[in-house]
Order: sequence, then structure tokens, then C-alpha cells
Amino acid sequence: MNNQEHTRGVRLGTILGFPIFADATLLIIVGFLALYELRGGLAAFGHGLVFFGVIVGTIVWHEVGHAIAVRRLKLGESVIVLSGLGGRTLYRNSPTLKAGIVVALAGPFAGLALAGVLWGLAQVIDASVLPPLAVYAWGLIITVNLVINVANLAPIYPLDGGQVMRYAMQMNLGVRKGLQVTVIVGVVVLCVGAGLLYAFSGFQELFVWLIIGFVAAENWQLWRTA
Ligand SMILES: [Zn+2]
Repeated sequence: MNNQEHTRGVRLGTILGFPIFADATLLIIVGFLALYELRGGLAAFGHGLVFFGVIVGTIVWHEVGHAIAVRRLKLGESVIVLSGLGGRTLYRNSPTLKAGIVVALAGPFAGLALAGVLWGLAQVIDASVLPPLAVYAWGLIITVNLVINVANLAPIYPLDGGQVMRYAMQMNLGVRKGLQVTVIVGVVVLCVGAGLLYAFSGFQELFVWLIIGFVAAENWQLWRTA
């Protein structure tokens, strides 16, 4: 995707030379989640802010992982866009199928590595010397990184696991059939996942159903290009 098309939105800053943009939808959704945390009252305000920061920071860290892989594979310089229900790393050159797999895995790898390092440090650091909010943030960073990055490895397009599946299927089945199999497998996994979620939570997590709707729309788009 041409990274020049996606420089709209608020520029948050630059990390390792990668410009970070956010559009309003991300800020609204994460703000809503932070408010949800705040239902515990004003005493929870600090927690709400930390919650907001950890979610945005985790997504940025994940995208920086992708962007570093893109740079090392000489696919161009990336622009990171935070929008809707997540982030995207946009760069100029289309990767080969093999490079695409490396780029897709780099985001989850960065997130899981961070969670691992912080978990390891937590085993040797005496938490009682840290302020309670720092202890809360530390645990939250580990949890959010685990949840976001493990979930991202599900074989559902456009999640990273779905991207890996798409490139792997295209290697073996060709472009068109590879895309079709990716959509079919992803939608089946999504339906099974949604069914399990319904069985256990009974449609209570509105946010999760927003994600499912978004994923279904992305798959419909991909199917139309196949
Ligand atoms: Zn990713």
C-alpha cells in the first residue's frame, strides 16, 4: 500500500524514524475502554489513564516490530497508522511471499518478546519498592501484550496469523486459490471462535463483536479481489 495515502489523522510522533499517525476512531474506542475502567470512580482515574496508555503503547510496539522487519528486508520505510480496532504498518513495496511471512510474524514476536522480558524481570524485582500504579502498569503490559499478540496469531485474515496463512497458501496454491482458502479457513475459525464466545460469555462483550464485524467485512473485501 502506498504510504503517502495514509498520512491523514493526528501525528502522534516518531519512533525509530517511523511516523505514527492516529485517526479519531482509535482515540474514541480506547477512550471508551478507559472510561469503562473508570466506572470504579475517580480513584480509578490513574488506572484509566494507564489502561489507555498501555493499549495504545502495546499496539504501537507491535507495529514497530513489523516496521523494523520491513526496513531490514529493504521493503521501504514504514508509516504506522493507528485506526479503528488496531494498527497498520504501511510501506511502499509489496513483499515476496516469504518476506511477507517474516513481516507478519515480526509484530507478534516483538510483543511476545516484551511480555517475556517484563515477566522475567518481575521474577527478580521486589515489587514492594515500586509505586502501586507502576506494579499495575507492569502487570497490564504483560497481560495486554500476551492477549493482543496471541490473538493476532489466529489464522483469520487480516490478523497477522491470517496474513501468514495467506502468503503460505499462495505459495502452495497460487494467488487466487490461496486467497479463497484463506478467506474460507479464516471465516470458519471466526465462526467457531464466535460460537465458543457465545457459549461462554453470552454476547456480553460488545467490543469483541465489533472486532468480529470488522474482520467479516475485511474478508468480504478480500474475497471480492480473489
Ligand atoms: Zn500485526
